[in-house]
Amino acid sequence: MALYARPVLPALRLLGPGGERAWARQPRITVGRRPISFSAGASGVFGSGGHSKKEKLFLQDVAELIRARACQRVVVMVGAGISTPSGIRDFRSPGSGLYSNLQQYNVPYPEAIFELGFFFHNPRPFFALAKELYPGNYRPNVIHYFLRLLHEKGLLLRLYTQNIDGLERASGIPASKLIEAHGSFASATCTVCRTPSPGEDFWADVLVDRVPRCPVCTGIVKPDIVFFGEPLPQRFLLHVVDFPMADLLLILGTSLEVEPFASLCEAVRSSVPRLLINRDLVGPLAWRPRSRDVVQLGDVVHGVERLVELLGWTEEMQDLIQQETGKLDGQDR
Ligand SMILES: [Zn+2]
Repeated sequence: MALYARPVLPALRLLGPGGERAWARQPRITVGRRPISFSAGASGVFGSGGHSKKEKLFLQDVAELIRARACQRVVVMVGAGISTPSGIRDFRSPGSGLYSNLQQYNVPYPEAIFELGFFFHNPRPFFALAKELYPGNYRPNVIHYFLRLLHEKGLLLRLYTQNIDGLERASGIPASKLIEAHGSFASATCTVCRTPSPGEDFWADVLVDRVPRCPVCTGIVKPDIVFFGEPLPQRFLLHVVDFPMADLLLILGTSLEVEPFASLCEAVRSSVPRLLINRDLVGPLAWRPRSRDVVQLGDVVHGVERLVELLGWTEEMQDLIQQETGKLDGQDR
């Protein structure tokens, strides 16, 4: 599997739903909140109890599998759709603060800010984006805290994110549980001598609109965000171990358009339920559905809240959010 970001740039998708791909124009199946399962006639085995008949799974069933701890190695894949409820919008959307910010830099097209060629020509638009995403500017939302709770309960095997906003970390999920597939602003590297730079150093420059320079060679210091054509982080290779081990796959708020990320959802065993909570039916779940797929279409926050309710975690979630919001308020003061 290629480990290089393909031309549909990841980082952009992260920031918001972009253009639709060919297969996304297939007739859209929207059934509100009612979970649906496809290919009910496909062969397969339900659980290990020797059921010969194919059974359709619903959101309720997934919740019960988690409650009964029949699923306790949950792998999660997330994308831009979990960041929009935090107020992070596609920076290409006219009217978003970021879009207006980019206008002043003569960026030929928005994707250019994640191209190395353009970056070396003019790094300022990229650092304007970095400044916008400075930790604390945006806060984790209920979806991030649901994932945190999944971790607290010892159920999270790994969280694969395409987002570069760092909100998964901000929600308190430890770095060891995270694969930030398109990189993060948590570290940076000199583009010339490759000297790593601790995050705190470059933020000081970014916050005063100065391009961060390497103390060793004065080369531009670039946060470790994956640009077009750059290799994905080494940690991404953990998918080789994680996906075959998973006993439940959750896919939240991603259009599954970017490879190699998108194909990962096919790497879980065929007996493993895949739950998609998303605005639309997307990617391999649309064109190569499995019998144990559960699809909860519509608003992602509502879908997650419904799952939390079915899990009986609503009160714990409220407590966690209250506690974490209190901490963040404290930091802001
Ligand atoms: Zn250097």
